[in-house]
Amino acid sequence: MLYVACEGESTEPDYLQYLNEQFGDGDEKGRQPFRIQPVYRRNGLTPSGAVAAARQAADEDEAWALFDRDRWDDIPQAIKAAAENGIEIAFSNPSFDLWLLLHFQPFGGAQGGSSKLVVEKLRQAKNAEAFHAYDKRGDKSIKGSRRDALKGREGVAVAHARSLVAACAHGLCKPADAKTEPVDRAGEPWSYQDWAARAGHARSCPVLQRDPSTDVWRLLVALGIGERAGGARRDR
Ligand SMILES: [Zn+2]
Repeated sequence: MLYVACEGESTEPDYLQYLNEQFGDGDEKGRQPFRIQPVYRRNGLTPSGAVAAARQAADEDEAWALFDRDRWDDIPQAIKAAAENGIEIAFSNPSFDLWLLLHFQPFGGAQGGSSKLVVEKLRQAKNAEAFHAYDKRGDKSIKGSRRDALKGREGVAVAHARSLVAACAHGLCKPADAKTEPVDRAGEPWSYQDWAARAGHARSCPVLQRDPSTDVWRLLVALGIGERAGGARRDR
C-alpha cells in the first residue's frame, strides 16, 4: 500500500486508479502486487497541501506527492516539507499533461510554466485520438478510451521522461542517477538538495528550471512498471 497525494482532483486520481486496475495485481514475471491509495480534494491541493495530505494519510507507509509547475509558487516549501518527511515527489513541469503526452511522443523545449503547447500536442498526437478533446469543457478525466490509449505505452513514456533528464539544460543531470527504491521514512530527514536530486537531476539543478520534465516515471519504476516493457535503459 502506498499513498499518493495529488494536486489535481480528476486527471491524477483517475490515472492512479488506472495503475491499480492495470498493474496492481502484479504479474508472473515477478512484479509485486501493489495498491495505490489516491489522496485528493475537491477543488485540488497546492503542492504544499499535497505533501501535507500525503503525510497525514500515509503515517509511516510509502508516500508520494504529485504536483505541477504551472500555477504554483510554493514548490520550494513543498519540497522542503517532503524532504523532512521522506515523502517522494513526482513533480511535473509544466504539468502532469506532459507525462500523458510522453506516452505518444517525445517532447522538448522550455515551456516557462505554461501547459498550453503540451495540451495542444496531446490533443493532436498520433494514436491519441481519445485525447482529442482533452481539457475541453473542463474534461481532464482519464477514463475509458483514454485509459485504453495509454495502455502498453508506459515503457515508452518512461524512456521519454528519462531522456528529458539527460537533455536538461543544466548539463549534469543523468536519469541513471535517479533513485526509485523505497526509503526508511522513520530515519534521518533528507536535505532539500538530496531529496530533489532523487529525480536524477543534479543536486545543483534548480527544480523550477527543470523545464520541461516530469518525475512521474519514477513512481512507475518504483512499482516495477515500464522499464522492462518499453526499452527504457538503465544507462543514459
Ligand atoms: Zn536538471
